[in-house]
Amino acid sequence: MHLLTSSLKDLPVEEARARMLAAVRPGAPEQIVLDRHALGRVLAEPIQAVRDQPPFDASAMDGYAVPAGGRWGEGLRLVGESAAGRPYAGPPPLAGETVRVFTGARVPDGCAVVIQERATREGDQVRFDGAAPSFKAHVRVRGGDFRRNEVLLPAGAPLDAWRLALAASAGRSEALVFPRPRVAILSTGEEIVRAGAANATDAQIFDSNGPALSTLITQWGGLPIPLDPVRDSRDMILAAVQGAEADLVVTIGGASVGDYDLVKPALAQLGLRLSVETIRLRPGKPTWFGTLPDGRRVLGLPGNPASGLVAAELFLRPLLAAWQGVDPAFPLEHARLAEPLEATGPREHWMRARLSSRPDGSVAAKVFPDQDSSLVSVFAAADALVRRPAGTPALAAGEVVEVLRLKRL
Ligand code: AMP
Ligand code: MG
Repeated sequence: MHLLTSSLKDLPVEEARARMLAAVRPGAPEQIVLDRHALGRVLAEPIQAVRDQPPFDASAMDGYAVPAGGRWGEGLRLVGESAAGRPYAGPPPLAGETVRVFTGARVPDGCAVVIQERATREGDQVRFDGAAPSFKAHVRVRGGDFRRNEVLLPAGAPLDAWRLALAASAGRSEALVFPRPRVAILSTGEEIVRAGAANATDAQIFDSNGPALSTLITQWGGLPIPLDPVRDSRDMILAAVQGAEADLVVTIGGASVGDYDLVKPALAQLGLRLSVETIRLRPGKPTWFGTLPDGRRVLGLPGNPASGLVAAELFLRPLLAAWQGVDPAFPLEHARLAEPLEATGPREHWMRARLSSRPDGSVAAKVFPDQDSSLVSVFAAADALVRRPAGTPALAAGEVVEVLRLKRL
């Protein structure tokens, strides 16, 4: 028993994340309309083209369709017109004939297009400068963008403007997507009150993690359900979590081992099964994760703003990705330190930093000198987290570090 319990403590970041990810899978797919409300939704089925695009050989220019490879001698006789949406209905022009074409219009079979700048028209006679065109010049051939039955988007692709454009050009107006996870957010602490609360005293602290997490959850595709902050009371914590209709409950604060850190003990009464107790992480060591008997998952974040938000980036973001069927891979970028850094301790350290690009094309990371985990102002100025693995030596300015870019507007 002792061994089992202690194995959930002080877990390396990767192992903690793997344990959390093992506990989530996407819900049953739902059909949605592929309009702007689909932004950020994740495909649960591949999108296949139902026809070729373009569906016909189309002109790339305004000009004249002429039989490809033919000769034009003194000029060609104009026999018709093909405009976008109003294709030429006659048989393809023969040698000596031409059809007026416009951009996006169907090009008669076997024809190339000569741009109008090279043409002089008199009545129904058109003369051209230069040599006759090679086969299919200025023609966008049928299927040149994509072919019927081609898989255009795989399952697991998040929808953005360009992917929606691709699905629309393939003729799709609806698709199956994974449901958004519902995430209840519960701030805890005797001292915590909502910003704007009347008569807040100097002994009280405004809830800043609650609004930050609601926003991050929205950005990451979840449906945030903000609950009213509760005091350090087992009964209040229990009641709030019991009433939360959610797939995941995120608690803030009360995560550590102090006398007033009551979230885990309170939820133990509900039958919480822990799979992560503490993490070898700085800041964010007290972060924990577990499952309630009714299947709801619970992520416990520490109350200090930087601790909670670092843990959210490292764990909540991949969790919400996996919940929606997206690969929760954790791509890090690289940057050069603007200033030297001290050696790290026994925990993996994620430091708030600001990136800037340099004239030589490299990216510089300026790590903020004060990394205290209570500082909201430092987090608000940061646009990246620099990762320092546990037990790494001091680094000189100019050395390369791994960075996680934060999505800032
Ligand atoms: P705790 O994790 O409950 O020990 O809280 C650690 C620190 O974070 C304390 O100074 C709290 O006042 C602060 N804190 C806890 N919850 C929040 C919150 N929701 N927003 C801002 N600060 C908080
Ligand atoms: Mg507290």
